[in-house]
Amino acid sequence: MAQPALAAAATRALPRALLRALASGTPAAGGAPAVAGFSSNAAGDAAQAPAPAPVRWVFLGPPGVGKGTYASRVAAQLGVPHIAAGDLVRAEIKSGSALGREMQAIVNEGRLLPDEVVLRTLRARLAAGREAGERGFVLDGFPRTRAQAEALLASEPVHLALNMGLREEVLVEKCMGRRLCSKCGKNWNVADIYLPAQGGRPEIVMPPLSPPPQCAHLMETRADDNEAVIKRRLQVYRDEATPVEDFFRARGLLADFEITAGIPETLPRLLAALAPHIAAARDGAAAAEPRAAHA
Ligand SMILES: [Zn+2]
Repeated sequence: MAQPALAAAATRALPRALLRALASGTPAAGGAPAVAGFSSNAAGDAAQAPAPAPVRWVFLGPPGVGKGTYASRVAAQLGVPHIAAGDLVRAEIKSGSALGREMQAIVNEGRLLPDEVVLRTLRARLAAGREAGERGFVLDGFPRTRAQAEALLASEPVHLALNMGLREEVLVEKCMGRRLCSKCGKNWNVADIYLPAQGGRPEIVMPPLSPPPQCAHLMETRADDNEAVIKRRLQVYRDEATPVEDFFRARGLLADFEITAGIPETLPRLLAALAPHIAAARDGAAAAEPRAAHA
């Protein structure tokens, strides 16, 4: 857990922090780049550190785009919780609660969870977070449908919907390259992608995310990562996502972000693109809570 002062310093030191995250070269298995990289600044800056940026963002994007990875890293940089719908559902199922058993039954049948079930879970998570003093969020995997988006905005202000995109042929290749370590559970990717610039679209370079030697012989492919299933998943995603994108666009909240490279190149570019929104969230928080009072 980042301490408030550290999170504030991290926010302020953003551009440099990005470069360090880049330099530390930890693109691999989830989690945030180490905050330690810029903690040397924290002591000196803490006295005049600005308020943290309690952003309220949702990350949209097709399966395989790396949304979860980017959402978790951005959230860690800003000191806000990364709330992934998939994680919430898995945790609820694992808990064996009545709701969890209901979810398991639906998932077992290969059906999508009803909006109302997903919403209930998310609201409970947000309420628990508020009680624990959390401010802001980065949501990932939610909202999935227009009805979910409407329900979310009816109860929670959202500052930005970041819509991550990646060319379809790359998405398919990336999904087919996914590997899971059967021992430590970390995700890797054997796809080595290069697409030249074409028809006004930028060049795409994505090197593989190779496992360390201790994992290399334990790689497993998920049964549903084959081309037909991946393409069907993308179609299902597009059908659902287009109305969600339209919904946020109509409210001036949608920002498109095209991915053209791997995590080390993309994360700094993403954070730079988000910088004005981070500043706006910080200013908004300062205006709303001039005394930063704790209830
Ligand atoms: Zn492993």
